[in-house]
Amino acid sequence: MKKALICGISGQDGAYLAQLLLSQGYSVCGTSRDAQMSAFRNLVYLGIKDQVKLESMALTDFRSVLQILTKIQPDEIYNLAGQSSVGLSFEQPVETLESVATGTLNLLEAIRFLGLPIKLYNAGSSECFGDTGGIGATETTPFRPRSPYAVAKAAAFWEVANYREAYGLFACSGILFNHESPLRPERFVTQKIVAAACRIAQGTKEKLYLGNIQIQRDWGWAPEYVEAMYLMLQQKQPDDYVIATGTSSSLEEFVASAFASLNLDWQNHVVVDQSLFRPTDLAVGKGNPAKAKQQLGWAAKYKMQDVVKMMVAARLENISGK
Ligand code: NDP
Repeated sequence: MKKALICGISGQDGAYLAQLLLSQGYSVCGTSRDAQMSAFRNLVYLGIKDQVKLESMALTDFRSVLQILTKIQPDEIYNLAGQSSVGLSFEQPVETLESVATGTLNLLEAIRFLGLPIKLYNAGSSECFGDTGGIGATETTPFRPRSPYAVAKAAAFWEVANYREAYGLFACSGILFNHESPLRPERFVTQKIVAAACRIAQGTKEKLYLGNIQIQRDWGWAPEYVEAMYLMLQQKQPDDYVIATGTSSSLEEFVASAFASLNLDWQNHVVVDQSLFRPTDLAVGKGNPAKAKQQLGWAAKYKMQDVVKMMVAARLENISGK
């Protein structure tokens, strides 16, 4: 039985990845900064909390990382942990850099130190590209990070590439564009929109306050993005891959789609609030997943409109308590 260690198992991707790996017959261990205190709501939501082993691990503490790797001796590690919000990274730049860049470095060093044949997947981000314009970014598009989060993810990406080249580690980065699901917290704008639209459809009189709705993003469906992570570690050679739908839509289109699916006109309920604009934001994020299709046989089945519909349906089901 293969053993997988998922760092950040309490998050959106961690939960879906755990579900996928369990279905593939893996023994799954997941880490949280404090496994005793976390409720692991996403694992509970998916009904798999009892099937995974949970451990506390602080990625920024080398001793803690080494101890868990020595104890679990996994075949594969998926590093999905770290401060994951672009918005919050402007408020907590040091925490963001340390949890993402130092955290990834500690994992790479621990694998190297132990000399075990452990494969590593690292959660890279499309934010590293900065503005992609209308041409989808590929694995060779230069990075122009424009937030503390993107800077940290760019550093982690190059750490992985460097350890692969210098020490022959089987380490890959997936450069993932935005992916959403019912497990997204409301701190992220997509779930904030879905949650507000559902409440308004139920009769609340509130307004939905948003920042720049002209930005465009390439939004996909999280459960199928974790399949790409798994596939990267099943290849003969380690490599980096862009994971995206290949289509971008504006936030305004996302909003319109969410409200329309509830028979509402978004223009009656949304207020654009200048105070919510970020210090710097990307006008367009769009990926070109051609390499993933060719080499991993992976392609996104769901586009933005499908994602919105599935998020709204899950929210309504939650509200009605089904
Ligand atoms: P989540 O925020 O849902 O989960 C990340 C996990 O990391 C949390 O559950 C938390 O676990 C841990 N974490 C949070 N903050 C810190 C911190 N400061 N230090 C250490 N650990 C922390 O993220 P997702 O599941 O959405 O994303 C997974 C990974 O993929 C992240 O690295 C994210 O940056 C990256 N990514 C996500 C994209 C997306 O659209 N979802 C797009 C591209 C990249 P705990 O509290 O239990 O310790």
